This record gives sequence, C-alpha cells and structure tokens, in this order.
Amino acid sequence: MGRQRISLKKSNCILSMLSRINRAIVRAESPDDLFRAACQIAVESGLFSAAWVGLVAPHSRTLQVLCHTGEIGSVDRVLARPGGFPDTVRTAGEMRILDKPETRTAALFPLELVRHGIHAMAGLPLYEHGRVVAVLTVFATDPGCFDAAVTALLHEVTEDICFSLDHQLSEQHRLAAESKLYYMASYDAQTGMPNRSLLEERLPALAARAEQRGAFLTMFAMRLMRLDRVAQIIGPAATNDVMRTIALRLEDLRGADGLLAQLGHEEFALVTLGARDSADVESLARTMVRAVEQPVHLDGKEVFLHLAVGGVTHWLHDQDVTTLLRRARAAANQVGAEGGFRLYSPDLDRDLERHVEMEAELHRALERGEFELHYQPQLNMKSGMVVGVEALLRWRHPLRGLIPPNQFIPLLEECGLMSRVGTWVLRTACAQAREWQELGLPAIRMAVNLSAQQFRLADLVTSVAQALGDAGLAPEALELELTESLILENAEQTIQVMHDLKKLGVSLSLDDFGTGYSSLSYLRRYPVDRIKIDQSFVRDIMEHSSSAALVRSILSMAHNLGLATIAEGVETPAQLGYLRKQVCQEMQGFLFSKPLPADELTEMLRQGRGLASDDPVDAAASTLLIVDDEAVVLKKLSLAFRSEGWKILTAGSGEEALVMMWEHGVGVVVSDLQMHGMPGTEFLRRVREMYPMTVRTILTRHADFETVAEAVNAGNVYKVLSKSSSIESLRGDLRDAFRRYEAKVEYLRRTGQQAHADNGKAAKVKTP
Ligand code: C2E
Ligand code: CA
Ligand code: CA
Repeated sequence: MGRQRISLKKSNCILSMLSRINRAIVRAESPDDLFRAACQIAVESGLFSAAWVGLVAPHSRTLQVLCHTGEIGSVDRVLARPGGFPDTVRTAGEMRILDKPETRTAALFPLELVRHGIHAMAGLPLYEHGRVVAVLTVFATDPGCFDAAVTALLHEVTEDICFSLDHQLSEQHRLAAESKLYYMASYDAQTGMPNRSLLEERLPALAARAEQRGAFLTMFAMRLMRLDRVAQIIGPAATNDVMRTIALRLEDLRGADGLLAQLGHEEFALVTLGARDSADVESLARTMVRAVEQPVHLDGKEVFLHLAVGGVTHWLHDQDVTTLLRRARAAANQVGAEGGFRLYSPDLDRDLERHVEMEAELHRALERGEFELHYQPQLNMKSGMVVGVEALLRWRHPLRGLIPPNQFIPLLEECGLMSRVGTWVLRTACAQAREWQELGLPAIRMAVNLSAQQFRLADLVTSVAQALGDAGLAPEALELELTESLILENAEQTIQVMHDLKKLGVSLSLDDFGTGYSSLSYLRRYPVDRIKIDQSFVRDIMEHSSSAALVRSILSMAHNLGLATIAEGVETPAQLGYLRKQVCQEMQGFLFSKPLPADELTEMLRQGRGLASDDPVDAAASTLLIVDDEAVVLKKLSLAFRSEGWKILTAGSGEEALVMMWEHGVGVVVSDLQMHGMPGTEFLRRVREMYPMTVRTILTRHADFETVAEAVNAGNVYKVLSKSSSIESLRGDLRDAFRRYEAKVEYLRRTGQQAHADNGKAAKVKTP
C-alpha cells in the first residue's frame, strides 16, 4: 500500500515534469533559457533535490557552470572540473547514473554533496546537431531514486530537449518557427496543455491500459461558462491568465494516468482511468466543478466562472475520440447556466434525434435552393486593391434565417452530403466568377474551400475541371483552399490529388495555417501556392509577442519557399499595420469587409473600393482636417500648424469635408460652427456617426452658449477651441486631440474590439 502511494506520487511528479518541460520548450527563446528552465523544473517537480547545468565550451570542450537549482553548497564549480562526473558524461556522450556507494569516488562524488544529503545523481548529455553542448545533472537524496520510470523520464526529457535544440533553438529563424509549430501542433499555445490531436494520439494507449486493468475509462468534456462575458470585461490578456489558472487547477485533478487536453478557447477534455464506479465519476466531476468555481484572483479583482461537465464511461477500447467526445459534450450541454455535471446516458441521444431532423432538412435544402454563397474580399496590401474573394457557404433556412457554416457543415459531413454540396459550391462560385468577368469588372481570383470528403472522392479533379468548363472560367482564376489536417489525413494520396489539381492550372492555398499538425518543413512536400495565416495568430498579434514572432517566422519562411501569403481575420488597423510591416502580401478580414452577398460584392468591385495603400493608421494619426467657410482662417491655421508635421486638409464646407473624410483617414477634425450650407452641428453629428474614431473639436468665435452646447452634444465633441486663443494654446489643444486619437486606437486594439460603424474608415476606404 505504502509503496504504491509513493509510486503514484512519483509518476505524478514525472508527468508534471515532462509536461512542464514541454511547455518550457515552446516558450524558450534560447538554449540557455531552456537549460535554466529545465534545471528549475527538475527540482520543482519534486523528483530531485537539486539540478545543475554546465555548458561545453566550444573550443576547449571543458564545462562551464551555467546554473544550478537546489542545495548543493559550493560544489557547483567543483562539478565543472575535468574528470568530474558531468565531464565523464560529456565524454561518454550518454546518460550516466551514480547511485552505488562504491562508485562514490571523491572525484566523481564530492563529499560536500553527501553533506547536503545527496546520495545519487544522474547526468544527461544534451546534444545539438550531434555534439554535446551541455550536461544536465540531477541530484537525489534517495539512493533508489533512479528506477526504471525515472530513467525513462530522463531519456524522454533529454530527447525532447535535444529535438528542440536541433530544430527550435538553433539560430536559424526558419527552424525556430518550424519546431514551434511542431509543438504547437500538440500543445495549446496559451496554456501549454495538450490539445486535441495529442488526445487523439494518446487515447488508444489509455484505453488499452484501462482494459488491461479492468478499469473504466472516463472521458469528461468541460466547458467554461460565462467566459465570453468575463473576457469582455477584463480583456483578452487577463482572460488568458484566467485560462492558465483554470487549466492548472484542472491538471491537479487529472490523476497519474489521466490526460487533460484543451480543445478550444473555453473547452477542455479530461480522460482518467481512476474511477471505479459511477459514484467515483460523479465525485470527480463535482471536484472539478468546485475547483473552477473558486474565484480567480487578478490584480485585486475576483473572477467567477462556472463549469459544465459531461462525462461518459466505457469499457471497450474500440471507441474513437469523436464518439466519446460527442457523448460527453451532449451530456455537458444538458447542464444549466449555473454549471454542474451530467453523466451521459443513451436518452441524451435525443440531441442526436434533432440532428437527424436537421439532416433531413439539409437533404431538402439542396433541392430547394436554400444554400447561397457569400464572398469575402481578399486585398493586396501594397496596392490596396481587391485581388480575390473567398466563397463562403450559407444556409438560408426557411424558418431560422441565415445559418453560418460551422452550424451545418459538420452535419453535412456526418451525413455524407458534403461532397454534393461542395460540388454545388464549386459550380456556383465558378459561374459567379465568370459573371463578374463578363460584367467587365477587374479580374479577381475566386477561392473555394474544399472539405475532406470532397477530397476522398475519386473524381474531385474531374468535378473541378467540369465546374470550370461549364462556367467557361480559366483555371487560373480558381484557387482551392485546403487545410493541413485534410492533407495529413491521407497524405500520400492527397498529395497526388493536389498535383493533379495543379496540373489543371488551378492554384492551391493552405487554410488555417499554423493550427494543424504540419511543421513548416512539410510545406516543401505540398504543391501549394499560398498559405493563409490562421486568424487566431492574427488576433493575438498585438497581445502576445509569441504570436507576433510566429507570424513573422511564418512569413519569412513562406518567403524563402517562394509561397504567397495571406492573413485572415484582420480586424484592426494595428493588426494590418503589423502585417504590412512584416510584408504579408494579402489580407482578408472584417476590417475591410465581411463576407457579402454576390450583388453587394458586384457593387464593391464596380466602385473599385480598396484599402488605402499607405499605412492608414499612421496616416490618420497625423492628419488634421480644418473646416471653415472663411478662407483666411483656413490659410492662417494651416500655416500656423505646418511645423507640427501634421498632414493638413482644409474644407470650406461640411459637405466638402465629408468627401475628404471619405478619401483620407482623418485623426482630428476642427470645425467652425457658423458656416454656409451644412451647419457645423450637423456636420459634427455626421462625423460622429460615420467616423467615430475621429476626434472632433469645435473652433468658434461666438460665445453663443446654446449653439456650442448643442454641437458638443450632437457631435460628442472632445474640445471647444476659441478663435481668439493664441496659436500656441491651440497647438497644445490639438496635440492633446491627437493623443486622444491614439488612445482610442490603442483602446480598440487592446479590447480587440472592432468598430463596425467605423469599418474601414479608420483604415480608410478609397474610391479611385
Ligand atoms: P474559413 O475557411 O477559415 O473561413 C474564414 C471564416 O472567417 C469565415 O467564417 C469568415 O466569415 C470568417 N472571418 C473572415 N474575416 C474575419 C474577421 O475579421 N474576424 C472574424 N472573427 N472572422 C472572420 P464562416 O463564413 O462562418 O465560415 C466558417 C468556416 O466554414 C470556414 O472557415 C470554412 O472552413 C467553412 N466553410 C465555409 N464555406 C465552405 C464551403 O463552401 N466548403 C467547405 N468545405 N467549407 C466551408
Ligand atoms: Ca477558407
Ligand atoms: Ca481559414
């Protein structure tokens, strides 16, 4: 009994050490960083009482102390000596363990260590490109510490670190990104938890283990409730902190053989073998609910969340993750808004009945013409022009209105309809592209998403060729978007189909890049023309320097491989600015436009709308518009402010000013109140409505309190300036106004919010 408990604790320590080292690998910026982290984690995991790292000097091949953690007194330098234990590990080039009293010679095992209660140690050589670059030594008080399990752990840790040194941490930028992607494929970037693909990978082994022991395998699906509301209040960065805290709490409940995975922004799955009966399952679930309900403390604030848990247990190992997860989720969906637990039972399949109903509706949808395509513009960053559109499927349900694809595409796939609908999408999109050409609109690319099911069909290539032929569309005008997971599902065959498609003359782009399994090096094997950087990275660019760095790496790697790049989900001017600086070629996102019905897109193409080609945020941040019907005032002020380096626009009327604002991004507007034509109050009201980002000020001579007050309210005016003030003080006020503009942009950036009314206005839209 006693022995068992110890080994359970130990295996917990081992798991914790492994997963923490992997997280450190994802985060480390340099080899030294990683070594230091490993040294610390080794001790914090509770397995070892101390750890030490020595670096191999490149020329002399001697060891130099890098760091140590835990109590080893003044031995740290002694350990580095030639002929010392770490040095023998370096020369042997393989792990060595010293735990027998008879091997404790003074040279190998300094007496000082024994004085600190240390009775065993192990040395691990760390390789980079085939050379030992460092030696990690761990120390234990228990002579029996280095048993088979710990030795296996150390081997694994060494392998992971060496892999990272070879791939991630080598100086080359390219490889840095590659390995990060490799790790990100298995671990969630924010919390460092295993993700779904790792869960899928490990589940069969867990199930087999459960079977061996005659134990239950229990899968819990957990959904954090209220997270969106909380995120709105505390912002994305703090939300990530909350997620990390919650993840750690849940990890504590995982058990030695369990696995905790993060499935999505607010969803976790936990697999455990520990439960013996349904009472165990229930009590474990309650513990999880309570753990999450404990308030999370954040800078003096408390955040409260609820957890909905659904559980399913099973005996057989042939169940796949999808089925288990679907059942656990169905159970979790039964939990009310206050959180709690439900165990799966077959009557929950009522949910599935609803699916069946929807399936029937989907079958009819195609015949009844309820599907439609919306088109989202893709723009070239340099020219600012629309160069393509992505066709996105919508279902216009007779009762429920427009349904977005994520609500029915999984169902289409489940009931095997996806390939038929996919073919319809292809044909409709090609026909639409052809129609635009016939209208004489600028030539643009039509991008169509392909699903895995379509790929599995033998005649995908034929059906693409047919869609093109029937529409009379040149293949160069068509681009097919596929995801990495789709490619990897059946790599060899898929790559062959990709080559066949390329032979037709269509181009291929890799969708959601960075979220799947593939490391960048795989890209060389795929005949793709473009990669689409996933929106999750774009969203995080401003929040997480690691996302920004990753985007940069992806872009430079793509550039090296001669691949085109497009960033999707661009919502803010700041994101756009960053992507532009990093030379991303194209963008797609709400900042410029949402997906639009065909006729609205036709209109947009007709008008030739595009992004302003220079950096719109920077431009607006220093553009001043002065509106006054007295030409002398305009002249005087433009001259007076010229030295500020602002771009100064002037307009003699509200009408004229509005046209200018349409054409240029404007940060600050100064408006007279008494003007011919449109009154100042009305002008400011419109500016407030159409360009809420622009900071509005009034310049007036009259101290007519009522008019001023009315204008201030109508235009939500930032400052009232007097024409009789000195130029010096006006200048100061306008500087304040520009600072105010920047603060607004910054706020928008921080909250990740998008001002829909302002859509494309801060990042101005221009007419040719
Ligand atoms: P996707 O291929 O990654 O498409 C991009 C999705 O991001 C679209 O969602 C689009 O509306 C959304 N989006 C674009 N810009 C922004 C932005 O700035 N912010 C945010 N938050 N979202 C933005 P949508 O239309 O709901 O489509 C969802 C997914 O459904 C698509 O993701 C694609 O995987 C799938 N899908 C859509 N149409 C088809 C289709 O015809 N065939 C197949 N196989 N899949 C499709
Ligand atoms: Ca897509
Ligand atoms: Ca995408």
